[in-house]
Amino acid sequence: MKYSIFNVIIEYEGTYLLHNTLHDNIIRIYDINYVDILKKLSIENFSSNQLKDLDSDFVNCLIDNKFIIDDDFNEHSLLNYKFYINQRNLDTTLRVMIIPTRECNFRCPYCYENHENKNMTEDMFNCSLKFIEEFLNNNPNYINLCIDWFGGEPTLKINEICKFMNKLKTRFREINVFGSMTSNGYLLNLDNFKKLIDLGIVQYQITIDGLQTEHDSTRFLRDGSSTWKTIINNLLDLKKTELNFNILIRTNVTTNIMNNIDKWTKFLKANFGDDSRFNYHMEPVKNLGKHNEYIHPTEEGTFYEINNSLKKQGLRLNLEDSISPFGLICYASNPSHFTIDYDGSIKKCTVALDDQENNIGKICSENLQYDFNFEKLSKWTNFDLDNNCRKCSILPICYGRKCPNCTIKGDWSICNDIKYIYKDLMITKYLKKY
Ligand code: SF4
Ligand code: SF4
Repeated sequence: MKYSIFNVIIEYEGTYLLHNTLHDNIIRIYDINYVDILKKLSIENFSSNQLKDLDSDFVNCLIDNKFIIDDDFNEHSLLNYKFYINQRNLDTTLRVMIIPTRECNFRCPYCYENHENKNMTEDMFNCSLKFIEEFLNNNPNYINLCIDWFGGEPTLKINEICKFMNKLKTRFREINVFGSMTSNGYLLNLDNFKKLIDLGIVQYQITIDGLQTEHDSTRFLRDGSSTWKTIINNLLDLKKTELNFNILIRTNVTTNIMNNIDKWTKFLKANFGDDSRFNYHMEPVKNLGKHNEYIHPTEEGTFYEINNSLKKQGLRLNLEDSISPFGLICYASNPSHFTIDYDGSIKKCTVALDDQENNIGKICSENLQYDFNFEKLSKWTNFDLDNNCRKCSILPICYGRKCPNCTIKGDWSICNDIKYIYKDLMITKYLKKY
């Protein structure tokens, strides 16, 4: 027998969880002596003799739940198999993210984008449609097509977006065409929401950075005017309808917001908590290239504090669903996901937009063709696992793909953040009582 390499012990106020991240099996342990014995079990020098002080029912439970496994059980092979099956399921949906403009009506000081007035031409919209058509024709396994609208601020190009979605819906009647949008929400009044939802754009990520004072200090219009009231009213108007949509309210957490987190989650509960079409995502502001005073470090306890505050209101962080196998993988590593920038360049990551490593292809408007640089493309979808990842006990959750942009650059500092997120969410999901 041997101890699984994917076992993790998590402690909170004297109670322990033993989690096997490959099988997603979890047991709660109350006896500290048992935990001490488990902590001494090492993968290399495991001996059944080390289990002699454990109750036989408990040992059987460890075996039944695959915390202890046969010597010849190759856990990496099983993980690869599960990943392959997971990937195959994803491969029925072609996801194309489109950046119709790099311009934005906001000037958030922490934003990593340059807000250039660069827009997709009508010609390039048509070429993007042609690219999607050819890609679907060459890959008949796709039964779904999802267009994710990103920016800049995509609602600045709402007419072009509606025209494009209309054309797609008419052209691809045999597959399911739908969409999502990442927006600041300022221009999403009820009329605009209705137009977009009618065209199948039913999922939205809208950023609101806390209560009015905090939000308006970082998310203001180009001329400095406030935006909070308009966005909240837009969402409340939408809430009154029976329309079918899903809105993820995202909060970029600064130290200021963290200090007032309970007031913010209370507001969310009071205004949106009775409607399951609204969900919540909160993440500390990261350093994505521009140094600024709004960066809030992700440390052990950061996600605990955020989720704890939501849970006290009966809400929860959407990330809670991610701490299961392959839950923390970024779309940039999905071979069925592409980003088309305003100028027709094809990319994977939506943060490193101007990084040459991310420029994996080009749609050429002159001859209506597209080219991929497969050498670059394959770096983002690479199936090989780095040695750091092969030894990592939460590999089944992240699969080395939480941020391919970081791992391609050899920046492994992301791993600490991932481990903090995992641990904090395990505690708030399974150990803390509300
Ligand atoms: S990227 Fe880091 S956290 Fe993810 S599997 Fe690899 S070593 Fe583990
Ligand atoms: S690769 Fe990293 S930076 Fe790029 S979108 Fe994914 S998580 Fe974000």
